[in-house]
Amino acid sequence: MDRKVRVRFAPSPTGPLHIGGVRTALYNYLFARQNGGDMILRIEDTDSQRFVPGAEEYINEALAWLGIKIDEGVREGGKYGPYKQSERRDIYREHVKMLLDNGKAYMAFDTPAELEARRQSVPNFQYDASTRMSMRNSLSLPAEEVNRLLGDGAQYVVRFLIEPGRDVEVNDLIRGKVTINSSVLDDKVLYKSADDLPTYHLANIVDDHLMEVSHVIRGEEWLPSAPLHVLLYEAFGWADTMPEFVHLPLLLKPDGKGKLSKRDGDRLGFPVFPLEWHDPKSGEISSGYRESGYLPEAVVNFLALLGWNPGDDTEIMSMDDLVGKFSLSHCSKSGAKFDFEKGKWFNHKYLQELPDADLAMMFKPLLAEKGITGYSDEYITGAVAMVKGRINFVKDLWEQAGFFFVEPAGYDPKAVKKRWSEETPRIMTELIDVLDSIEDFSSAATEPVVLDWIAGKGYHLGNVMNAFRLTVVGECKGPHMFDITALMGKEETVRRVRLGIERIKI
Ligand code: GLU
Repeated sequence: MDRKVRVRFAPSPTGPLHIGGVRTALYNYLFARQNGGDMILRIEDTDSQRFVPGAEEYINEALAWLGIKIDEGVREGGKYGPYKQSERRDIYREHVKMLLDNGKAYMAFDTPAELEARRQSVPNFQYDASTRMSMRNSLSLPAEEVNRLLGDGAQYVVRFLIEPGRDVEVNDLIRGKVTINSSVLDDKVLYKSADDLPTYHLANIVDDHLMEVSHVIRGEEWLPSAPLHVLLYEAFGWADTMPEFVHLPLLLKPDGKGKLSKRDGDRLGFPVFPLEWHDPKSGEISSGYRESGYLPEAVVNFLALLGWNPGDDTEIMSMDDLVGKFSLSHCSKSGAKFDFEKGKWFNHKYLQELPDADLAMMFKPLLAEKGITGYSDEYITGAVAMVKGRINFVKDLWEQAGFFFVEPAGYDPKAVKKRWSEETPRIMTELIDVLDSIEDFSSAATEPVVLDWIAGKGYHLGNVMNAFRLTVVGECKGPHMFDITALMGKEETVRRVRLGIERIKI
């Protein structure tokens, strides 16, 4: 196939981009880059009723955050523009006329009330070959009547004339050949005179042709529209430039069956949107991956594996790795369970890859929020380095490393019960002397001195070390004790042991 790969991501700006839409954009992008092709971002805003202000900006911002680069689009420009459907009215009008002129479409004057009455009286009513002659349209009405209606400025829609009884083949690169009989399809509305706008069906298909789209990669929920794509391409005489179809598997609920929804996110506590979204109408705020502390690389990696696998068990892949490895033949047909715990795991992994100093810089604003300033970058970096293995998010650094910056507010009662006895204050006082005597407070130098003192006195190693830890950290968890004290320094360590002796009561 020597056709240039050109793919499009074609969201409708009807709200925030759902995480499933992000996955569609990602697969389009990977496929385009892998094949040296073009990635188009087309804004499908022909449904003015559902237009939501801010949604288009949101889409742009989300894709940019994730590193999904657009070659042609509203902002990027390109020679196939405009890339916003509401700016392409003339093009659609002209194409509607082409279909009307060659008898592939017709005008229908049925009012919403008439259609509703029909739906009420005829079970499973469908506007198609079996019913269209009993409706009010340019096929059933005499020509003079049609002209009179048009002359009177009557509103109409243009419907696609679907010939019944034809097997329509859709070749899907994941699903194989899907055959649908045209008799099940209705005469889709392609254009509405009332707002002089095409419907999604016409605009989407005309644009795919004019923008020379080679592959339509989109969610499985669009599979039912594919036969119409095929039939309209034929009706226009474009059958030889028909795009290949790729319908991606659904994203499923983490638990149970069914499609992943916003409600699942609310219920189980994870975002279903890439960025936080402020609903302009209701004022409702929906959480986003970015604001929840995910790194874009982790989100990309996580999403890439929801519906595709590299053929081996490699899990950590950068965007470049993904571009190299992606293949449609390894995309699955069946839905992909949205395992958000795995999403956290990816974030954990990507955080580990960051240089400690970068993580420290990300932690600094959190410290500042708590009024903690004045610590050197080196100190913060040292603290971060010790605990980063335990975090899934930057914000977890506070829970893990907060004690490096503030003395314990209290002492874990369970640990106190287990590790603090009547003689502990005396032993801790001795420990202060031992610590005071140490010149080189590095971890390597302090450790043998303290351990020798414990052994020499015949103390219980676990009890003494845990009591020590309790005074410094407030609980019996955390990194290696002597790494902690080395970073904190002698003065602060001794101060905390002293404070513990004063404050811990049994
Ligand atoms: N505008 C449709 C959407 O909102 C595009 C579907 C397609 O990619 O063909 O997803």
